[in-house]
Amino acid sequence: MQMSGQGLQSFSMLHHRITGENSTIVKDANMYSEARKEYFAKRYAEKSKNPEYLKLMADRARKQRAKNPGYTKKMNAKRRSDNPEKERARCRAWFAKNPDKRVAYQQNREAKKRALTGVVSVDIRTKLIRLQRSKCACCKENLIDGKIHLDHIMPITKDGLHDDSNLQLLCQTCNNQKYNKDPIEFMQSRGFLI
Ligand SMILES: [Zn+2]
Repeated sequence: MQMSGQGLQSFSMLHHRITGENSTIVKDANMYSEARKEYFAKRYAEKSKNPEYLKLMADRARKQRAKNPGYTKKMNAKRRSDNPEKERARCRAWFAKNPDKRVAYQQNREAKKRALTGVVSVDIRTKLIRLQRSKCACCKENLIDGKIHLDHIMPITKDGLHDDSNLQLLCQTCNNQKYNKDPIEFMQSRGFLI
């Protein structure tokens, strides 16, 4: 269909008017959604004092997750990309509260990068401290808090598995000396083994 000059002009005026109005509507909608957010935040703060309500919400969320597998993962990724600063702060706070899990988490992640199989228990440090009776696996000195190193017996760089079975605790000195040496060569260099 061809538009006459007159028709085109009035169409563009109409278009301008509509988009102009729309932008006002969008602005109102933003204000509305802010008020709405505030309202629901208040309501939630009030309701979440009730344990029954929290349980109900948790149940509902669990059912939703079961119905939409992958949704949580997608939303978590979205939250991270929308608010990277806030998410990093949240992670830091969690790791500060769970130092043992931090080590396992970081090493699992490193291992994943290197595509190695094997899993490290979240409480591997605690387990090893008990097994090694709080002593360095090499020099047998008492392990000092804050200077305990989780060591891959066979280094990852030498295809050692990232797994509970390939982990030990070393003191800082021994760990620094061992670095990524072969475990037998290292122990021999320290006067152990023949
Ligand atoms: Zn040592």
